[in-house]
Amino acid sequence: MVTPTNDPDFDVIVVGAGPAGATAAHRLASGGLSVVLIERAEVPGAKNLSGGVLYASVLEELFPGFADEAPIERRITRHVTTFLTADSAVSLDYSSHTLGHPVNGVTVLRARFDPWLVGKAEEAGALLMPGIRVDSLLTQAGPDGRRQVAGVRAGDEELRAPVVVAADGVNSFLARDAGLRRTPAPHHLAVGVKAVIRLDPGRIEDRFGVRPGEGAAHAIVGDCTQGIGGGGFLYTNQGSVSLGVVLRLDALQASGRSTSDVFEHCVRHPGLEPYLRDGEIIEYGAHLVAEGGYGMLGEIAGDGLVVAGEAAGLTINNGFTVRGMDLAVGSGIAAADGVAEAIGNGDVSAAGLAGYRRRLEESFVLKDLRTYARAPKWLERDRLYGAYGELSADVLRRVFSVGTSPHRPLRALARAALSDSRVRVRDLVSDGWSGVRAL
Ligand SMILES: Cc1cc2nc3c(=O)[nH]c(=O)nc-3n(C[C@H](O)[C@H](O)[C@H](O)COP(=O)(O)OP(=O)(O)OC[C@H]3O[C@@H](n4cnc5c(N)ncnc54)[C@H](O)[C@@H]3O)c2cc1C
Repeated sequence: MVTPTNDPDFDVIVVGAGPAGATAAHRLASGGLSVVLIERAEVPGAKNLSGGVLYASVLEELFPGFADEAPIERRITRHVTTFLTADSAVSLDYSSHTLGHPVNGVTVLRARFDPWLVGKAEEAGALLMPGIRVDSLLTQAGPDGRRQVAGVRAGDEELRAPVVVAADGVNSFLARDAGLRRTPAPHHLAVGVKAVIRLDPGRIEDRFGVRPGEGAAHAIVGDCTQGIGGGGFLYTNQGSVSLGVVLRLDALQASGRSTSDVFEHCVRHPGLEPYLRDGEIIEYGAHLVAEGGYGMLGEIAGDGLVVAGEAAGLTINNGFTVRGMDLAVGSGIAAADGVAEAIGNGDVSAAGLAGYRRRLEESFVLKDLRTYARAPKWLERDRLYGAYGELSADVLRRVFSVGTSPHRPLRALARAALSDSRVRVRDLVSDGWSGVRAL
């Protein structure tokens, strides 16, 4: 058993004021614990980058009516998944106003959204310390001689608390410092590059075929990343669009290309240019993204420490949706409840904090991560980023090309396109079967 540290400054120190940390701080403070939320940026969200579709049911449960209050951009009512080649686009386009009510996916800009969520934590009584970068964990010998986390160190300052919540994002130096996480393998990491492009709201609605207040989320595969494993996204905000590419690190390295070159190619792509015409880039940034899914999850509790959100590797990319923010919020809730229980029981050892893992297993977070556990491996298949887009475009080109010679039935056109393509039937069967199992 590891008992709470003597003479603490706070009951809990939360490091990182992203969705995971802000939610954990809100919940802990709402439960009457004294909480400090430390954030390296001067203003929460200032350094945070996200594509921007937040699946919001979990926030709606926490803050009923949240979408009417929070600074969201648009409710997503249209999802488009596109295979892009150099000169064609094949899309699956789903739109329904029912997706917006009750709230489902909404676009957010983190510089506006994070301060709102942090404000909720402050209203509940958490103390925000912005502009402070935590350098390391503070440890002390527990009663049984084992080292236990007892706080954090930032510059010359030390802050003590029986439990630290590491919600410091994908790089999580704190989780590594505690030995809970190893440096992720390159195929478990991607680099995301994103620009926010200003566009008139009316133009957005015309170009993307959405009503005022509603928006579209485009997931793009293929030539927008020049065939590099990963994908592009194009999301509508209120008066801007977010365009980005997420490139698997191993595939990017193998390609020899730079992220900025790939991004430039994407911005100028003829399949995307009509959406972006006359837009003005007002923000640009790059950030790592965890891509390993369930396979990346390691230990999430140590003596006096829990790890939440992307610091624990909690993201899902299944090719249709990229999720991290909702999982961060869900893990923030589970972490807070696990920590409160451990403090209540007077045992903040890894065993005492095991309630966090149990709650996470029972929540949508780990259930969804398990559902898509096979997706990262499946998405490593190179054919998804080139050959299949070309094949489907070729089939459709043949279908829609009408000449004076007799038109052949679809099955014959598809067979001809397949025999002309780089795809072999056995690849198609193997990828298709694995895809069905992965998704
Ligand atoms: C290009 C891109 C596109 C994405 N698209 C989507 C999407 O559409 N939908 C989605 O749900 N997710 C998306 N994600 C993933 C999503 O952004 C993350 O999963 C999510 O932000 C994780 O939340 P978090 O609270 O765990 O960490 P973060 O949001 O990364 O927050 C961590 C916080 O900790 C702070 N911090 C870090 N180190 C320290 C330190 N030492 N001391 C003090 N503070 C520190 C940081 O400044 C930051 O505020 C995308 C990510 C990228 C990069």
